[in-house]
Amino acid sequence: MEMNNGENMDFVCMYCKQELENVAQYLNLSEDVVTLLSRVEHVHSAELEVGEQRYRAYRVQHNSALGPTKGGIRFHPDVNVEEVATLAYLMSLKTALLGLPFGGAKGGVNVNPKLLSQEQLEELSRAYVRAFYKHMGPWKDVPAPDVYTNEQVMAWMLDEYEKLTHTHAPGFITGKPLILGGSEGRDVATAYGAYVIIKALVESVIKKDRREVRVSIQGFGNAGLNLAKLLAEDGFNVVAVSDSSTGIYNPHGLRTFDLIEFKKKHKSLKHWDYDTKIGSEEVLFLEDVDIVVPSALGNVINKHNVDNVKAPYVVEVANAPITPDADVVLREKGVEVVPAILANAGGVVVSWLEWVQNNTGYYWSQEEVLEKASVKMNNAFKAVVRKKKGGMTWRDSAYALAIERIVQAETMRGHV
Ligand code: NAD
Repeated sequence: MEMNNGENMDFVCMYCKQELENVAQYLNLSEDVVTLLSRVEHVHSAELEVGEQRYRAYRVQHNSALGPTKGGIRFHPDVNVEEVATLAYLMSLKTALLGLPFGGAKGGVNVNPKLLSQEQLEELSRAYVRAFYKHMGPWKDVPAPDVYTNEQVMAWMLDEYEKLTHTHAPGFITGKPLILGGSEGRDVATAYGAYVIIKALVESVIKKDRREVRVSIQGFGNAGLNLAKLLAEDGFNVVAVSDSSTGIYNPHGLRTFDLIEFKKKHKSLKHWDYDTKIGSEEVLFLEDVDIVVPSALGNVINKHNVDNVKAPYVVEVANAPITPDADVVLREKGVEVVPAILANAGGVVVSWLEWVQNNTGYYWSQEEVLEKASVKMNNAFKAVVRKKKGGMTWRDSAYALAIERIVQAETMRGHV
């Protein structure tokens, strides 16, 4: 039994407000627009019961002017409504920037999934859908995986949704197993999108031979590991990586493929005996790298450590890895930051392609999917470069494009 504690429609996301106020002066945003985008359309919350335990769960829909909302569901002990709202807001900007027919949403359950059995995890996943299914659906709000949720969780959620609605509705959720209508290429999509953006950045802005481009990556999971692989395959010089246990650094370049094998086998980089061991966070603050890629957690570059960032470029693959106050410092220091709404959009682009395939019943190969994703990512990159004039940062121009699209849709709907 889950109790839906209903809806809060007056919720203001403080991170969103602070970030929008930061960019407002550079983008000529009116107070009305800042107010509009600092608010979320709906906060749904519920208490989910699994055995004796109760877990607080949320589904936040930030803005739906451009289409059904879209965003992952995270199972994590730090989940709170402010974080879910921030991530929903970033999804609205991301889908708008990429020109996808979606708005932004996010979901989460405050739980440590590592303490649950498979049966309890299944029960929790199904309880989440029972609590919120009336507010979700292929033409309303389309969930996906996020931190500590995977294709098995998506499969249970789809099954529960279809039981409750007496339909087959594969477009209800993305990141599903292939057998239930998942898309080829979804597992590498985020890394692939980030790789496309880094390649475009190096070719059109940094203008260096990629063998001389030194990259440091924090996080060696789905996004970080696959990104390291794609970069190394293409000749980039990956000099540092880290997971939660340690950082590994070699100024002459790492044996990336061996490291990947090692990580897959041992689940951790802790006992890798070559190269120099550094702290997990230290990879963000190395001196002799061109591009730093946070691809683990949020808030890792903050006001306490931002002065230690020495690389000229930061490419955000994690969501919100830089706090708004640290972002102001990076702007002043002239560090170029490619924002997550562009750099990690590969995941949602392939989610959109999954949804298109589900709704048409026509399925593509991995090659076709990644080719379509690459076109979308490159178009967004070029649009951001075209928009970036005067003293605008990458974040300014990406946010300007995204916000313009949302405001245009809101205006045509007669909402503003
Ligand atoms: P994941 O769980 O597969 O991997 C996370 C990695 O980060 C692991 O290697 C873990 O060891 C490492 N890590 C944890 N704490 C760390 C620390 N303190 N220092 C260094 N490394 C640490 O997660 P993922 O799917 O790769 O996602 C990573 C980030 O990218 C998250 O912020 C996520 O929101 C974002 N993201 C992922 C996707 C996707 O499709 N996977 C899409 C968009 C955004």
